[in-house]
Amino acid sequence: MTQGIRTSSLGYPRIGRNREWKKTLEAYWAGTTDEQTFRAQMEELQLQHLQAQAQAGIGLVPVGDFTFYDHVLDTAVMFGIVPPRYAYDGGDIPLDLYFAMARGNAGATACEMTKWFNTNYHYIVPEIGSLTPRLTENKPLAAYRFAKERAGIDGKPVIVGLYTFLKLSKGFQADEIAAVAARFLPQYVQLLQELEQEGVSWVQIDEPAVVTGLTAGDISLLETIYGEIAAAVPGLNIMLQTYFEAAEPLEALLGLPVQGIGLDFIHDGGNNLKSVERLGWPEDKVLGAGIIDGRNIWRADIDAKLALVARLQQSVPGERLILQPSSSLLHVPVSVEGENKLKPAVKNALAFASEKLAELVLAAAAANEGAGLYAAELAVSREALAVFRALPERQREDVAEQVRSLKQLPDSRSLPFSERVKVQQAKWKLPLLPTTTIGSFPQTAEVRQARLKWRKGVWNQERYDGFIRRQIAEAITLQEELGLDVLVHGEFERTDMVEFFGEKLAGYLFTGGGWVQSYGSRCVKPPVIYADVAFVEPMTVKESLYAQSLTKLPVKGMLTGPVTILNWSFVRDDLSREEVAGQIALALRHEVTALEEAGIEMIQVDEPAIREGLPLKARDHEYYLNWAVKSFRTATNHVKATTQIHTHMCYSEFNDMISSISAMDADVISIETSRSHGELIVSFEEQEYDKGIGLGVYDIHSPRVPAVEEMTSAIERALRALEVQQFWINPDCGLKTRGWEETTAALRNMVKAAVIVREKSGAVSR
Ligand code: GLN
Ligand code: ZN
Repeated sequence: MTQGIRTSSLGYPRIGRNREWKKTLEAYWAGTTDEQTFRAQMEELQLQHLQAQAQAGIGLVPVGDFTFYDHVLDTAVMFGIVPPRYAYDGGDIPLDLYFAMARGNAGATACEMTKWFNTNYHYIVPEIGSLTPRLTENKPLAAYRFAKERAGIDGKPVIVGLYTFLKLSKGFQADEIAAVAARFLPQYVQLLQELEQEGVSWVQIDEPAVVTGLTAGDISLLETIYGEIAAAVPGLNIMLQTYFEAAEPLEALLGLPVQGIGLDFIHDGGNNLKSVERLGWPEDKVLGAGIIDGRNIWRADIDAKLALVARLQQSVPGERLILQPSSSLLHVPVSVEGENKLKPAVKNALAFASEKLAELVLAAAAANEGAGLYAAELAVSREALAVFRALPERQREDVAEQVRSLKQLPDSRSLPFSERVKVQQAKWKLPLLPTTTIGSFPQTAEVRQARLKWRKGVWNQERYDGFIRRQIAEAITLQEELGLDVLVHGEFERTDMVEFFGEKLAGYLFTGGGWVQSYGSRCVKPPVIYADVAFVEPMTVKESLYAQSLTKLPVKGMLTGPVTILNWSFVRDDLSREEVAGQIALALRHEVTALEEAGIEMIQVDEPAIREGLPLKARDHEYYLNWAVKSFRTATNHVKATTQIHTHMCYSEFNDMISSISAMDADVISIETSRSHGELIVSFEEQEYDKGIGLGVYDIHSPRVPAVEEMTSAIERALRALEVQQFWINPDCGLKTRGWEETTAALRNMVKAAVIVREKSGAVSR
C-alpha cells in the first residue's frame, strides 16, 4: 500500500484548557512555587499537549513550540542574544534572566514587545546589536527528546526561521541583514546538525516573514540561508513553513533546496492555490497544505475542504501532501467541550484547537480511503454547519435593508471641517489648548468587585446602578476641581471596551473558556460575532446623560469604534470583514443618534485597533484603509455640524496613515505619543493635518507622576509641528490601569502645564 496523505500540526495552544499555564507562571513570579515545581508543572502541561495531538491522530506532532513565555524570546535566548543591560556573561541562561528580558527587573527594563504579524499575539523583540550569537542550548532537541522519552512521540521540532528571526529583530540597519545572517548561520546550522544526528526526520522552520513581500535581496538571502542549511544537513527534511498570507513569488521558494513548503490556503486570498496550479509542484518537494483555519474558531465546511484536497491532488500526489492547520493553533482556544452555556446550534458550529485537529484527521482519512467510509462523520459535520447557517439571526432582512438604504445617504458631514470648526468654536467656547482625558478612570478593586457582585446577582441592577452613579459623580467633581475643560464619565461600568458593546449588540456570543494568549501570561477571551450585528437599544446614554447632568462643562459620550470592535472579536467567516464592519458601524450610528438626541453633543469614538487590521501585503493596504475609514464615517457623519466628534488611537504606528486618519473626518483626535519617541510628531511636520489633535503629553503606563516641565516641553515640542489653535492637551490613553492618587497628581500637573503654555501663547485661561 502506498503512503497516502498525512497530517501535521504546526503548534498547539500553550495555555491549557483552564489556563493552567498562566496560573503556573504567575505562581512562580509571585514566589509561591519554586523553580523545580514550576518546571515539573510545565512539563506536565507540555506532555498533555503532545498527547492530545497524538491521540487526535495527527501524524507529525510539533515539539519545541511550547514555551515559558514566547517562542521568539526562546529563539533569542537560545542564540545567546541577551542585551548588555542584563549583565549576562555567558553560560546557561537562568530562568530569572529569561523572565527579566520579558518583564524587566529592578536593574533593567524589559525588551520591547510587539504584535506577531497581523495577530493579537505579542512577541519579544530581539535586540541583536553587536552581540555575537552562540548556541546556549538546543531547545528543539531537548523538546524532541522529551516527547520521545515521555510520550513515545517522534516529534517534529519547530524553529523560527533565521530569515524571519532577523526581520523581526532590531539593533542593526536593514541593509546589514545579510552580514548579520552570516554571523548566525554557523550556530543555526549546528542546531540543525544536532537534530540530524539525533535521528529527527522533519523539522518545521517557520518563515512567516516571507509573506510580507520579497525583494531581490530577500530572495538571495533566503537562497544563502537555505543553501547552507541544505549542504550541512542533507539527512534532515526541512519544511519551510509560511502562513498568514500568500507566499509570493512562489517560484522563489520552490527553487530553494528544502524538502517541503508549507502554505496557508485560508488567509491567502486564493493566491497560493493559483500559484500552485500555475507553476505545478516540484517532484522533490512535499506540500504542507494549510486547509483548516488556524486563526478563527468556526467548524470547517468539510465538503469544501475535501474539494480543496482533491484539487490539490491534481498538482501534488497524495504521498507528498500533508494536511495541516493554516498556522499554529496558538491563536485559537483549546477545546469547545466545556462550552455548555451556548445553544447547541452555535456550540456545534465552533471548532477550537482540538476540534480542528479532528477535522484534519477526518479530511485526510476521507481523502485517502474514500468519503464513503466516513459517511457518518461527514454527515454530522455537514448537518452542524447547515443548522448554524440557517439560523435566522444570521440573515436578518432588516439589517440588510438598513445597509442598503445607507448607501443612498451622503457619506460625509453636512459641512466640511473648515466650516464646522467655526460653528463648533461658537458653540463650545473652549479655551485655547483645551484639556481632556481619554475616557476611563481608575478601575479600582472596589469597582471590579461591584461589577462581579452584580454579575453574580448578589447586587440587583438598582444597587449596581447607584454604585456606578456615585463613581461618576465623584469623577465629575474631581475633574471640575482639577480644572479640566472637557470631561468624561469614567467608564466605570465597562470591564472591556469591546465586550461592553458586544454584550449589548445583537449578533454576539460569549464563550465560557475561549481564551487565547495575548502576551506572556496575559490571555484574552475575544467576544464572538456569530450573527448579524445590530443595535438593540441605547448602550451608553444612561451614564453619559447622568454625568452631563452634574456639570455645565461638556462631557464626552464614549464609544468604541466599528473597526476596533471588529479587530478585537472573533468574526463570522461567511461575510467579509468589511461587511461585518459595516453592520457594526450602522449599529453605532444608532447609538450616536441616541446620544445626540439626549443632548450629548461631544462624542468620542475610539479606534485604537484600526491599524491592527492592516493587511500584511502593502498592495492591500489602501483597500483596507478605505473601508475602515468608511466604517468610522458611517458611525459618525450624520451628526449636526455643531456636534463634535472625537476619536482616539494608541500603541501602533500611525506615521504612515495620517491621510487616512484625516479622512475619518473626526473633529478632534487624541493619539498616544510617548512610546513612539517623537517619531509621530515628525510626521506631522512633514504632512498636513488640519483638525483638532491632542498628542498625548504623558505616558500612562507608569505609576510615575510626570513633572509640569516635562509636559510643557512635550507640548512645546508638539507646537513646533502643529498650530496652537488645533492642539489639545491630554494623556496618552485611558487611565483605568492607574490608581487615583497618581492620576489626580498627574492630571493636576497636566492642567498646570496647559495653563503655562497658554499664557506663553498670550491667551487667557479660563
Ligand atoms: N476610552 C478608552 C479608555 O479610556 C480608550 C481605551 C484604549 O484606547 N484602548 O479606556
Ligand atoms: Zn488608548
